[in-house]
Amino acid sequence: MSADVRSPSFTACCGALIGLGVGVIHPRRADVGFLASLTDAGLPKATSTVSVSPLRQAPRSVPTALIVEGRRHPRRIENSLASFVVTHPTATFIVDPAICVNVGVRAVAQLPAVLRATVRPAADIVPTISALEEQGYASADIDFALPTHAHWDHVCGLLDLPVLPLYLHRTEHDWVTTGSVAPVGGVRNSLDGRTTIDYDLDGPPVLTFTRSHDLFGDGSVVLVDLAGHTPGSVGVLLHTSAGHVLLAGDAAWHTYQVEDIRQKSSYPGGLADEDRAESFRTLHRLHAIKDRVMVVPTHDPDAAKRLREAQIGVNPSFRVR
Ligand SMILES: [Zn+2]
Repeated sequence: MSADVRSPSFTACCGALIGLGVGVIHPRRADVGFLASLTDAGLPKATSTVSVSPLRQAPRSVPTALIVEGRRHPRRIENSLASFVVTHPTATFIVDPAICVNVGVRAVAQLPAVLRATVRPAADIVPTISALEEQGYASADIDFALPTHAHWDHVCGLLDLPVLPLYLHRTEHDWVTTGSVAPVGGVRNSLDGRTTIDYDLDGPPVLTFTRSHDLFGDGSVVLVDLAGHTPGSVGVLLHTSAGHVLLAGDAAWHTYQVEDIRQKSSYPGGLADEDRAESFRTLHRLHAIKDRVMVVPTHDPDAAKRLREAQIGVNPSFRVR
């Protein structure tokens, strides 16, 4: 294990495992009062349109009970470590450059053992650089990277894109670089020596989210506050020809969580979410907009498939009404 790893304590790990068992029987209940209190500030006015393309990634089958607390059907769901390419009229960028070549050695080996067991990459996992090449992108075609948050599986693909500039929420940047050790691990090498542009969520409320940042100033790419999973987690709200799409990072690991308002299972979710209470509130905010905006959790390959179909017009059901 690398020296820069902040390990969950033994107590935290035991608590998470006990919580997993409790959650199967008694999942945390939605806060009906909080849901009713949410106000919707509406969608940003957009004068440009972007396209978004999920990159290919090999999914793995996981027990639903390890992802969505208390959900028993289906018994298994798919999970993947995905990335997305967004094309704006003036720039092309990658959201969540997830996987580097030889990820097991370069990133996963830095994780605490208790997390390594749940994230062991599949043999056929696709490095981000390879997925880009498959879709015809050279490194030089990508102008910058924009992670939804700075966990290892959302930034380590940067290791193979060493000169790519990075846009990062200042709160998140401070979180992963302050102190002697990085949260969880496998992160700081991806940021070392890189041109990083910090931004703040300095804009008005958007939909049910309290703060925002309009990246191009034209309403086509608006970053919204999804704090909880990490302190600086953001969602990337995109104005596409098929309607509005929200790349939601790890605010939810699967669409079922958004539909049912079910938090991540205690193990491993309790170790991955920095603030479980805030994460749960953010889940309510996502639930409240799910019929207006296509919400795409980064690790949900079914959501990525729906996004792909909507983008090419196969599935028009997500067009904003
Ligand atoms: Zn994460």
